[in-house]
Amino acid sequence: MVWDFHTEPEFQEDLDWIRDVVVNEIEPLDLVQSQLSVEAWQRATEPIKQRVKDRGLWAAHLDRDLGGQGMGQLRLALMHEILGRTRSATILFGNQAPDSGNSELLAVGANDEQKQRWLWPLLDGKLRSCFALTEPEVSGSDPTTLTTTAVLDGDTYVINGRKWFASNAAHADFIIAMVVTNPDAGPYDRASMLVVERDTPGLRILRDVGTMDHPWPGPGDRHAGGHAELEFTDCRVPRENLIGEPGSGFTLAQKRLSGGRIHHAMRWIGQSRRAFDMMCERAVSRTVHGRPLGNKQFIQDFIAESRTEIDAARLLTLHTAWHWDTYGPEQTRVQIAQVKYWGARVLYNVIDRSIQVHGAMGFSTDLPLEAMYRLARNYRISDGADEVHKSFIARNVLKGYAAVEGYPTEHVPTRRASAEQQFAEYLDLATANE
Ligand SMILES: Cc1cc2nc3c(=O)[nH]c(=O)nc-3n(C[C@H](O)[C@H](O)[C@H](O)COP(=O)(O)OP(=O)(O)OC[C@H]3O[C@@H](n4cnc5c(N)ncnc54)[C@H](O)[C@@H]3O)c2cc1C
Repeated sequence: MVWDFHTEPEFQEDLDWIRDVVVNEIEPLDLVQSQLSVEAWQRATEPIKQRVKDRGLWAAHLDRDLGGQGMGQLRLALMHEILGRTRSATILFGNQAPDSGNSELLAVGANDEQKQRWLWPLLDGKLRSCFALTEPEVSGSDPTTLTTTAVLDGDTYVINGRKWFASNAAHADFIIAMVVTNPDAGPYDRASMLVVERDTPGLRILRDVGTMDHPWPGPGDRHAGGHAELEFTDCRVPRENLIGEPGSGFTLAQKRLSGGRIHHAMRWIGQSRRAFDMMCERAVSRTVHGRPLGNKQFIQDFIAESRTEIDAARLLTLHTAWHWDTYGPEQTRVQIAQVKYWGARVLYNVIDRSIQVHGAMGFSTDLPLEAMYRLARNYRISDGADEVHKSFIARNVLKGYAAVEGYPTEHVPTRRASAEQQFAEYLDLATANE
């Protein structure tokens, strides 16, 4: 019987090291990031990246045979809980979205030549990437309706269409675009993944779409983030840029997103925890009517609800990671959907309460809470809206149930009648004794 919540001591040392770097080096760096030139940012961050590499923690999200550290999801989850505290931490650990998901996709779908060209430099941090699926004209929740096409003309694909919310596109060296290559196939076999390199004629980055969270401070014009709208007009890419088989886009997209959702959810726990610590510190520091805020039952409710929600989300996420390590990703899809929507909700709730407890200061830019709040709102939409994940969970859960004729299984009169038959001899005795 193994049902253990301990972290092995060797890995705990790694976690302690990560926490030290994140809290004492990366969090302070993030505070001055917008004041640094690109070169200054690189000079400041390169030594940290090197130490991360030396410790074997760089780009840890992939299995060893795919170019990563082979840690397994559970260790990764614990690591991401700490990285989630601040934005640049994943970048300095080689785990940042969308590059991390794209490297997972290339690791499972690309051939050797493609890996040489895009995967290894991506894992090394020498290239940056983008993933473009969502389109402005059709629902991103239903990618079977994608309209961007890629038509084979000799040895080149000719792409036409428009994408948006392609994170990082303006700064990426290459874009992985989900495009319709097989229009006559079934809904889940029509699309493929094509790599489009920066500066390919016919690819135009139209704008970075303004959002609640954008623009955010970053090092010069190479800062991470930005969600671009882009257009393909007779954009020609070589046939060799196709990842996997024609029509395999949906299968690859699924592989790309799954593990990342666990890491996202653990990063949200880290963020929630940071907002929670701020809330508790304020609750014992600020006095109202001569007593600490924490003496008020309303505030105690915030604290109890937040603590319990964070713990529940953490256990759910760690269990999901364990489930993946034990049974594999395919068997863990429902749990992944659970942590995606539930984790985003907990994060949003906890930050909201923490802002409330800080009053006007919580709303101000003197604290990181307002920025955390703006960012947190997107997690209920990006990477699949809450409703899509809930619907997936419910549909899968319901597969385990069969319809019954007549009364429900738990219908008391029916069950009692059956129990009376089962225990008839005792009932007879009871009646006889009356
Ligand atoms: C910050 C951010 C970053 C992003 N980065 C990327 C990226 O890098 N690459 C990329 O391709 N895309 C990206 N996206 C896009 C994201 O994946 C889509 O926004 C998301 O899939 C929803 O698609 P949509 O915006 O078209 O909304 P729609 O599909 O139009 O859905 C709108 C709303 O309808 C409701 N809804 C949808 N489906 C259902 C359902 N089945 N049942 C009930 N209600 C439903 C939900 O409330 C949903 O929010 C990003 C989005 C954000 C906000």
